[in-house]
Amino acid sequence: MDTGKKRGKAGAAGPSVVIIGSGFGGLGMAHALLQAGIESFTILEKARDVGGVWRENTYPGAACDVPSHLYSFSFEPHYPWSCRYGKQAEILDYLRHVARKYALLPHIRFGCEVLGADYDESAGLWRIRLKGGETLQANVLVSAVGQLHQPQIPQLKGIENFKGRSFHSARWDHGYDFKDKTVAVIGTGPSAVQLVPEIARQVKRLHLFQRSPGWCVPKFDRPYRPWERRLIETIPLLHDIDRWRIFWTFEFINTALLRKPVVGTAAKAFLRSGAELLKRLQVRSGALRRQLTPDYPMGCKRTLLSNDWLRTLAQPHVEVVSEGIDEVTADGIRSADGRLRKVEAIVYGTGFASTEFLAPMEIRGRQGASLRERWSKGAEAYLGMSVSGFPNLFVIYGPNTNLGAGSIIYMLEQQARYIAQAVALLRDRGLASLEVRAEAQREFGAMLQRRNKLTVFEAGCHSWYLNADGRNTNTWVGSMSEYGRLTRQPELAHYHLAPAAAPGAPLARAA
Ligand SMILES: Cc1cc2nc3c(=O)[nH]c(=O)nc-3n(C[C@H](O)[C@H](O)[C@H](O)COP(=O)(O)OP(=O)(O)OC[C@H]3O[C@@H](n4cnc5c(N)ncnc54)[C@H](O)[C@@H]3O)c2cc1C
Repeated sequence: MDTGKKRGKAGAAGPSVVIIGSGFGGLGMAHALLQAGIESFTILEKARDVGGVWRENTYPGAACDVPSHLYSFSFEPHYPWSCRYGKQAEILDYLRHVARKYALLPHIRFGCEVLGADYDESAGLWRIRLKGGETLQANVLVSAVGQLHQPQIPQLKGIENFKGRSFHSARWDHGYDFKDKTVAVIGTGPSAVQLVPEIARQVKRLHLFQRSPGWCVPKFDRPYRPWERRLIETIPLLHDIDRWRIFWTFEFINTALLRKPVVGTAAKAFLRSGAELLKRLQVRSGALRRQLTPDYPMGCKRTLLSNDWLRTLAQPHVEVVSEGIDEVTADGIRSADGRLRKVEAIVYGTGFASTEFLAPMEIRGRQGASLRERWSKGAEAYLGMSVSGFPNLFVIYGPNTNLGAGSIIYMLEQQARYIAQAVALLRDRGLASLEVRAEAQREFGAMLQRRNKLTVFEAGCHSWYLNADGRNTNTWVGSMSEYGRLTRQPELAHYHLAPAAAPGAPLARAA
């Protein structure tokens, strides 16, 4: 990838590419490059295994909330999932299987943490700095570090004084025995919803501290029966039909989140009735029901899918605390009403530093411009992928490419295909770089801001989609299919195309 020798080869095979991260995003990108005939790429992964969030989130109950027939790559759809919704270990196995089957492993350097990258304009190269001091170089840099990889622990008063055990859901302590303990869980997001029912079975008492309740709908999950698996394996078309059905069900739900008239209203009524019915069936106490009723529209935060969450919160040894946290003491948590609840462990189900995107990496583009500074008021990228002033940099799962409902894998694959086409363009036209035009990025940003106002995402809740100013920097404002249309292929008029130094000189001129 970075040596002169290898880059010499890259001139024929295509520009050299470095991908950061080997989750769904990085592996999907690698596959798309191979499909485009580009083999001169390396994936840098700081961990010792592929998998991204599915390697890191091993808390009890960790699972997908999108059926696996859709939450999987389109190029590797027929996988023998045991249940409708994949569990963490199975999804991780799936990613390992993809890496092996498509011969991606030889391209991965594990244990390589990227600290930052600088664009060398004169050489037309990204210089990538690794922990440990090594520097690599490549024509194209693709970040696939995800939106949810930096666990976020709230800055609570006295947090450092706590003498018991405490950990984040993404850093689960499997050695900790919850049996007969009194435990606090902070947070009511999707991770908390999955782990609370699991640990509630073991603990003596559980205090759940919620900032605000979430909308919760039933999860229609179950193991596939052996005959169903055999049938799907024998007739893969059935699987494809199911994938298509799940996709369009999510597109229907998206109409509610995008507040589309008529269909959106019907979708909203459908979802709300599911949520209300579930609450009515599982929570007897009127007071608790009120405590668990959100004061914001459904979809403003990610909707929760669980058949056990509300039922668990209604158990006598579980308490929902909505007063807010005043401080953490040596032996417990004091709520805003002054009451101290003594606990032996605190679990933070408080999500991730989602709006910080590529941080803590320091990425510097043309004339040393810092991406972190550029994004200090909110991350923004053309199609969520390209940033003006940063030639040949592409971001997978970048700003405004998350979904309120649907499979992120669909979005990652659209991006991977688009980026692979861009890299192929560099190769085929002998270009040095592609850089999105500032006007194109501005127009795209203005469209996002305009349409954000029409969605439920900025409808007045706290969510991980919003930055400190309350702007949705994370979630896409349209349907999955619309994003697919917009990213079908790079629109060349939206990019500055820089020719290689000498006419016809291959990109590898940098060597
Ligand atoms: C618990 C949980 C449940 C989820 N459930 C769903 C779901 O049900 N449906 C859905 O659509 N989405 C879900 N998501 C969102 C999920 O993030 C995406 O679906 C998808 O897995 C993102 O893949 P990714 O490759 O973009 O990022 P990640 O999976 O985060 O992978 C990023 C990789 O980059 C590596 N990396 C990061 N920084 C560096 C660095 N500096 N140097 C080298 N390597 C680095 C990391 O180690 C990691 O392997 C969930 C997320 C979480 C956390």
